[in-house]
Parts: sequence; structure tokens; C-alpha cells
Amino acid sequence: MIKFDKLEVPTEGERIGNLDGGLVVPSQPFIPVIEGDGIGRDIMKVTRRVVDAAIDTAYSDRRITWFDVYAGERANATYGEWLPQDTFRAIKHFRVALKGPLTTPVGGGFRSLNVTLRQTLDLYACVRPVRYFEGVPAPVTHPENMDVVIFRENTEDVYAGIEWAQGTPEAKKVIDFLQTDMRVAVREDSGIGIKPISIFGTSRLTRMAIQYALDHNRTSITFVHKGNIMKFTEGAFRDWGYKLAQAEFGNQTITEENVSSEHNGQTPDGKIVVKDRIADSMLQQILTRTAEYDVIATPNLNGDYLSDACAAQVGGIGMAPGGNIGDETALFEATHGTAPKYTDQDVVNPSSLILSAVMMLEHLGWQEAADLVIRGLERTILQKRVTYDLERLMDGATKVGTSEFGSAIIENFMC
Ligand code: NAP
Repeated sequence: MIKFDKLEVPTEGERIGNLDGGLVVPSQPFIPVIEGDGIGRDIMKVTRRVVDAAIDTAYSDRRITWFDVYAGERANATYGEWLPQDTFRAIKHFRVALKGPLTTPVGGGFRSLNVTLRQTLDLYACVRPVRYFEGVPAPVTHPENMDVVIFRENTEDVYAGIEWAQGTPEAKKVIDFLQTDMRVAVREDSGIGIKPISIFGTSRLTRMAIQYALDHNRTSITFVHKGNIMKFTEGAFRDWGYKLAQAEFGNQTITEENVSSEHNGQTPDGKIVVKDRIADSMLQQILTRTAEYDVIATPNLNGDYLSDACAAQVGGIGMAPGGNIGDETALFEATHGTAPKYTDQDVVNPSSLILSAVMMLEHLGWQEAADLVIRGLERTILQKRVTYDLERLMDGATKVGTSEFGSAIIENFMC
């Protein structure tokens, strides 16, 4: 058994295996869990309870062995560092983990813990399903038209962290190189950031997105890019995406152009339509022609904006789940922050983390348990038994606390 510096692995449980790139899930897997800072405590407690109850209801012989690992303030208190090696090693070794929100300490030179986790564990796809739950107050007339799954590239683009502050010798060196060797004009007083987008990074992301579309009977995949301006990064992302779709999924996909020119606008049965949109146009279309979009693959920065815009359209990021997925490891997490003013008050909405745990159950192949949680959540919202954030926007709703909301979900599994 793997040994850690300061972690005790529980005695009962088994490691999730990996065979030919697929997970081999035992009946009692270890799942490392980062509780998170601030409201992490409130929402993780109830999420674990809901997930355990769903598994218990769905199966007679399965359960999760939760295994606490540390990041953020708890890690700092235990290890004197914010992201200890033990945590990386545990997630890598046990393969699937769940995480609450983490404080990013403010101050020069401090990288976001979330970005560090994603990059160090090579969790190259940030997967954000966005759908509407009936009854949730939403700012648009037809929120029910939204049902997308966004695959945001997680390791490249301007998020790669390759940047130099204005006035530093490094920035000066890069500017000198650009001016002298590359003969391009850059103002002397510029800060510099680099935007790398590779064939490798694009291909593995689009491969995962198209495979997801096929596995889940989705109808289309849209590459969202700003290739009209950034031709060799965003434009190349689009071109490499189409190339991969043709090379690896040629029998199962068809381009939008082909549907229009060869099939009179009717998609042939069993084919997934591959299309692309420029990012600014996409932010309009997702609002005006919502139902035309399904699975989306996009570089890092576009994905950041688009995920939150889509989530806002169906009632805010309090309900939006997320998963960071690589070839070996997956980390599912709430998409909101630590909301420190509500810490330990048992008032906040745990839906984002609960829905992230649903994604985790689906990733494990435990669909029956995932379905129970979704059913419980849908019914609880329809009954208008909701936390303060939703209650203040709904007529005639009953305000419940975080743990009470969890109990209502469990009560509603089988109704
Ligand atoms: P935040 O923690 O997301 O909170 C902003 C506001 O959003 C809250 O005051 C609350 O609004 C609402 N909110 C957030 N989560 C909620 C929930 N579960 N239920 C109901 N309402 C919720 O954003 P922040 O204040 O900008 O960031 C605080 C800390 O979190 C920072 O240290 C930041 O770095 C970190 N952060 C971490 C992550 C992550 O770990 N993935 C993501 C974002 C931010 P009302 O006040 O209107 O009720």
C-alpha cells in the first residue's frame, strides 16, 4: 500500500484500477476528498451524505471509502504549505477525487491552487455540463433549451502561466528579441504573456469531447474559437479539431457544411454534426439559438467565459458542476468559491458540489446512483424547498439550510 508523509489511508477499500485507458472500479473504491475552505465544510458534509445515501439505495454491495486529503487552509495548518505532495500523490494514485472550493491566498507570486492542481495532475479537460432544473429562477424566457456540455482545454492558452511583468529584465529580454530578431513592434513598457496552443493539447481535448458526444448520443460538437483574429492559435485549434474528427471519427461525424451541401440540411442518421463558431458570435448564439448547441470544445480562455455565461442563463453558477479530467486522473469540484462570510452557517446551496459528485458517479459508471441524486434534486427544487440564494428569487418558496436541503434530496430519491 502507498505510504504518505502525514496521511493515513483507511483500512477498508480498494484502489480504482486502469485497464487500456478505462477505469476498473471496485465495489468499495477509495475516493480522496479535499473538503475545501470556507463553505467547503458545509457543502462537502452534505454532499457525502447524499452520495452515500444514493449508493446505499441503488446497490446492495457498493460504497465509497472517502479519504480526506488536504489543500488550502487545512493543508497550511497541517503541513505548513498550501498544496502538499501527499495530496498530489493521493489523487494520482487513487485516480478519482472530489474537491470543495479553495481560497487563493492574495499576494504576489501565488498561483491559484486550482490551476496548480489541474496543471500538475495534467487534468487537461475542464468539463462543465450546463442544463436547466425546472423551477430554478432564470433570467431568460426559455432556460429549458440549454443542455450543453463544455469541454474547456485546461493546460494551454494564456492560462499556461507564461508571462512577465512590465519592467522586469525578462519582459525586456522578450521585447528585445521580438523587436530585433522577429522584427515586430512591441511597446517598451509592455507586460508580456504567451499564448501556446498545440496540436497535442487540441487533439486530446477534442478527442475526449467527440468520444463523449458519441457515448452520450449527443447530436453535435461545436469548436468555439477566435480564429479570425488569432489565426495560428485559435484558428489552428479549429483546423486541428476538424482534422481529428475526420481522421479518428470520420465514420461517425459529418461537418455542418457537408450536411448543408450534400444532405439538404438533414443530418444523416447516426452522425454527429461537427461545426465551429467564432467566440463572440457564440456568446450571442447561446442566448438566441440555445437549442442548436450541444457538446462544445474550446480553448481555455473562451471556455472560462462561455461556461459562466451558460451557467448564468439557467440560474447562476451556484448550480453548475465541474470536472477536471485527464487520461489517468479526474477531479470533480464545485465551480463557485469559498464564500467566506457564510462559513459554518449551514445556509449555502450545495448543488454545485452535489452535481459535481453526480458527474463523479457517472465517471465511475455508477449511473443508477447518479440518477437518484438528480431525481431527488429535481423534486426538491420543484417542491420549492431551497436555500437562501434561490428562495430570495422564488415566489412562495420555503427557505431551508444546507443540511436540510440535502435531507430533502434524499427523501425525494424514491418519491
Ligand atoms: P465566491 O466564493 O464564489 O462567492 C461570491 C458570492 O457568490 C457569495 O457571496 C454568494 O453570494 C454567492 N455564492 C457562492 N457560492 C454559493 C453557494 N454555494 N450558495 C449560495 N451562494 C453562493 O466568490 P469570491 O467571494 O469571489 O471568492 C472567495 C474565495 O474563493 C477567493 O479566495 C477565491 O480565490 C476563491 N475561489 C475559489 C474557487 C475554487 O476553488 N474553484 C472558485 C472561485 C473563487 P451572496 O453574497 O449574494 O449570497
